[in-house]
Amino acid sequence: MIVCKFGGTSVADAGAIRRLIGILRARLPEQPVVVVSALAGVTDALLALADPVHAGDPELVDAGIDALVRRHETTARELPGGATALDAVRAEAAALRSALHSALGRRLRPAETDRLAGCGELWSTRLIAAALEGAGVPATWLDIRPIMVTDDRFGRATPYPQVLNTRARECLLPIAQTGRVPVSQGFIGATADGTPTTLGRGGSDFTAALLGAALSASRVELWTDVSGLMTADPRIVPSARTLAEASYEEAAELATFGARVLHPATAMPLVRAGIPIVVLNSRQPDRPGTTIEPSAELERMGDSPIRSISWKKGITVVNVRAPRMLGTYGFLRAMFEVFERHEVVVDVLASGEVSVSLTVEDRTRLDPVVRELSDLGEVWVEDHRAIVAVVGIGLRHTPGLAARIFRAVQPANVEVISQGASAINMTFVVREEDGPDVVRRLHAEFFGSC
Ligand code: ADP
Ligand code: ASP
Ligand code: MG
Repeated sequence: MIVCKFGGTSVADAGAIRRLIGILRARLPEQPVVVVSALAGVTDALLALADPVHAGDPELVDAGIDALVRRHETTARELPGGATALDAVRAEAAALRSALHSALGRRLRPAETDRLAGCGELWSTRLIAAALEGAGVPATWLDIRPIMVTDDRFGRATPYPQVLNTRARECLLPIAQTGRVPVSQGFIGATADGTPTTLGRGGSDFTAALLGAALSASRVELWTDVSGLMTADPRIVPSARTLAEASYEEAAELATFGARVLHPATAMPLVRAGIPIVVLNSRQPDRPGTTIEPSAELERMGDSPIRSISWKKGITVVNVRAPRMLGTYGFLRAMFEVFERHEVVVDVLASGEVSVSLTVEDRTRLDPVVRELSDLGEVWVEDHRAIVAVVGIGLRHTPGLAARIFRAVQPANVEVISQGASAINMTFVVREEDGPDVVRRLHAEFFGSC
């Protein structure tokens, strides 16, 4: 059995869905279980409806939903059998409409936002299951929510592995074993009482990995719009090259620091069983892509010690300066307790003798953190920053590498430098507007032309 996940651009329109059908047809002997994202752009369009709801504008809400339904109708009509999905799509859209109308004039609650955000996956899977059937590939649509039971941290919910393992086997195996292709949603789940949740943006990769682990799949394929994990985001560095293989650790580092091609948690569920992840291009399905697995042979990219460079914008740096931390203990613990209490995730940390700098991505709960940190020392916050991560082999043991990196990024100002314990990454902070140029300069330095 294999798990095949198709991202938004791999199901963007009828042409993409035809390619998906071809890819799955070729894999039928391997019993594919299919995980699908929303059609490209649909999740953003759904989330954008929160504004007219808040503004109390029912016409704009209706127009937004109608446009999305029309897009699914157009796509469905171009696919044999696709139209059979439309009743279900329209019924879900009608339920969404009345839920949003009942919230007019106020901000959506987190649970309502998750219900809204997850509609795209419910629609896309209806369409794809119908299109597969229409093309003669027996397929069964399946609601993932009773399988993907999560906590109630809306927007970033965590699934309960025990429930997931049992239910995934109970619900999915019988379908796959009868030669049918189960088609289910990435990204979404539900609490034990059935309230819809989401696993965080880009979470379909994580869904696929969770199902892969639960079903002991022989591999998890992530079908996307690039030919694998690359030396940099090809949108920024057009000459970026594909890595033939990568380790879980390397992939997780790159994803954590902005390589959107993979959700940062994807490798986690697969580590114990050592199940490989293969990142593949749905437009060029015959390309080998990148295989991510524990025994990966990490080849050097030419003579470069660096394997890949990623960057992430929207970062805030929090600096704490406390002369009394010099020679005392318990200071870092006190500081991290503040972040923990407010559930603010810290990405990068750099510490000197009397000061600590750390980065956070989610600024929404930062104000109370800053207030409490002020009891420990002088605090200042810098917004609009980006993290750049350089991932390579044995970086810590490569003499002169740091100097080479920082020479290459000049004249950009480098602010927080951190080298992880793993010896595979070096991260630093730059101003957001400098991010793309810094990535391009580093790529040119370590991989040649841009
Ligand atoms: P999907 O909808 O298939 O999940 P995403 O848009 O989430 O696709 O992720 C694919 C995108 O990730 C690519 O189009 C590319 O621009 C971006 N990306 C960023 N960093 C990298 C990288 N190192 N390698 C490959 N793609 C990357
Ligand atoms: N559709 C969701 C998103 O846009 C999940 C995903 O694509 O993985 O974030
Ligand atoms: Mg994605």
